[in-house]
Amino acid sequence: MGAQEREIIVRCKGVTKSYINSGNVTPALQGIDLEVRRGELLMLVGPSGCGKTTLISILACVLNHDQGSCEVLGHDIKKMRDRERSEFRGRSVGFVFQSFNLLPTLNAEENIAVPLIIQGQKVSEAIRHSDQLLERVGMPEKAKALPRELSGGQQQRVAVARALVHKPALVVCDEPTSALDAQTGHKIMELFRELVRESGRTLVVVTHDSRIFEFGDRIAYMEDGRIINVVEQ
Ligand code: ADP
Ligand code: MG
Repeated sequence: MGAQEREIIVRCKGVTKSYINSGNVTPALQGIDLEVRRGELLMLVGPSGCGKTTLISILACVLNHDQGSCEVLGHDIKKMRDRERSEFRGRSVGFVFQSFNLLPTLNAEENIAVPLIIQGQKVSEAIRHSDQLLERVGMPEKAKALPRELSGGQQQRVAVARALVHKPALVVCDEPTSALDAQTGHKIMELFRELVRESGRTLVVVTHDSRIFEFGDRIAYMEDGRIINVVEQ
C-alpha cells in the first residue's frame, strides 16, 4: 500500500489555542490543518515558540484546544468526556516528554511499568513487560537504577520504553534529542524508528534539531502557530 492510501489517524482542521495568563493572551496555534497517516514517522519542526509542544499536547489529549476540530484514532477529542478521554489517552497514546518526566523515586523498570499498572495490570506482569522493553532499549542491567543514576541518554531510553510499553497506537515525542549529544541522539532515533516500524505504530516527533530530520517519512514545518509546509521524504 502506498503512503498516500494509508489510513488517516489524526485529522486536525483549523485548530487554535491561546494561553491566557493574568489577562495576557498568547496565541500559540492559529489554525492548524494536519493529517497524520497510520504507520508513519512525522517530524514536526519549527523554531522555538512556534507551537510544537502545544500541538502534540493536543494530539495526545493532555491539552484542550479552543476552535477547530481534531480527530484522533476516530475520536473527536472535544466530544469525549474527561473520563473517556483519560482512558483513551492511557490506552492509545504514548508521550515522551522533553524533560523525560521520569518519577525520581521509581527505578527504571518501575517507571516503564507505570502505564501498564495504571491500566490495571498486575505489578509482577507489568514489571515483566517492562523488563522486555528495557532489553529492547539495550539497558537490561539498569532495571534497578533510579533516574538520577542514569545518564541523559539512558533516561531518554527509559522514557521511550515507557511510551511504548502499553503498545499505544499513537506515540508523540517532544524534542527527543535536545538534551543529548549528536551520537546518542542518532541512536535514540534509530531505536525509536525500529520499534515503531516493527509494531506498526504511528510516531509524531517534535524537534528543531535538523540533524534528525532525516528520520521522518514526512516533515511538517511550523511557523507562528501554523503549518506552513509538509514535505514527503
Ligand atoms: P514550541 O514547543 O514550538 O517551542 P510552545 O507550544 O511551547 O512552542 O509555545 C507556543 C507559544 O505559546 C509560545 O509563545 C509560548 O511562550 C506560549 N506558551 C506555551 N505554554 C504556555 C503557557 N503554559 N502559558 C502561557 N504561554 C505559553
Ligand atoms: Mg516545545
